[in-house]
Amino acid sequence: MKTLRLSTSEIDIARAGDIIRSGGLVAFPTETVYGLGANALDEEAVRSVYEAKGRPSDNPMIVHIADIADLDGLVEGGAFRMPPYAKILAKQMWPGPLTMVLRKNPSVPGVTTGGLDTVAIRMPMNETARKLIAEAGVPVAAPSANTSGRPSPTTAYDVLEDMDGRIDAVIMGDQCDVGIESTVIDMTGDEPIILRPGIVTKEWIEKVLRTEVSYDNSLLINIEDESEDMSGTYTDFKPRSPGMKYKHYAPKAKVRLIAGDNETFAEKVMELGVEAMREGLKPAILEYGNDANKAAHKLFADLRELDRQGYDIIFIRAIDTKGAGFGVMNRMLKSAGYDIVK
Ligand code: AMP
Ligand code: MG
Repeated sequence: MKTLRLSTSEIDIARAGDIIRSGGLVAFPTETVYGLGANALDEEAVRSVYEAKGRPSDNPMIVHIADIADLDGLVEGGAFRMPPYAKILAKQMWPGPLTMVLRKNPSVPGVTTGGLDTVAIRMPMNETARKLIAEAGVPVAAPSANTSGRPSPTTAYDVLEDMDGRIDAVIMGDQCDVGIESTVIDMTGDEPIILRPGIVTKEWIEKVLRTEVSYDNSLLINIEDESEDMSGTYTDFKPRSPGMKYKHYAPKAKVRLIAGDNETFAEKVMELGVEAMREGLKPAILEYGNDANKAAHKLFADLRELDRQGYDIIFIRAIDTKGAGFGVMNRMLKSAGYDIVK
């Protein structure tokens, strides 16, 4: 299959919308990462997304909408029957990088939701994304446009690296602003639970809802833990979000996370760097200070770039987990397979 390169012009977005409506796959920019879009109501199209990504079929997709009115056909009983907190978040936080898990309407096929009776929904902020969904005229299922397991793509070139020849088209937009995926919050229980942390933080949601919000237990990893290597604990977690249990964000190079103050970091990175070079490996260092937004914006792009440059081992400096740092640390931990050096 030849993958079309489309621009962000009105005419190209209309063409991309046609492709999605007629069952094809189009990668497109959102404010978080590039998504791989298909008609969420078309089982065949959704199956081909799983296939193009090599994604396990029990890992449900986020359904993207362009307008609040589009919620009606997706959630149980229509938008009016949504839990009150969900109504507040939809009103205050959309469009934006926040995904809500809600009870699904029977019209949403099981393949889209990985067989669950809930559906994850987001209204993205990115203008190209919104125009595309509106042009398609259908809700758009869109996981990140990468091969399953690799770092999510934040540029059109990163998308092509994984998807060229496997999908119908890519909209060649700008680099994504946020750089990590949306915050996913489960709104189906008595209290909202964050299943995947992102740039929309727990504190921010609590302020909007004026209630306490919790994290899914699987997200609470204590890096102060005494054990040196946490990779063993990785498979012990049972996240409520199916996708969170899979290997994620892994570049080809081995990744190790280094925690500790400036001095500890400098010492460790020196020691491990020298050790790596002695073994004939080419080491790289990623450090973002404590700027969580910058780290989010650059992390996946940097991991992919270091792969292209042929590095064998990447040392990432762990980031402070306050605020948006929590979501960034979640991605860092996963890309390192929970290998933390302290
Ligand atoms: P991505 O493929 O990067 O768009 O990731 C989508 C994330 O949302 C994955 O972690 C999914 O497991 C999660 N997700 C999607 N739908 C649901 C759902 N109905 N319930 C819980 N998590 C979901
Ligand atoms: Mg993904």
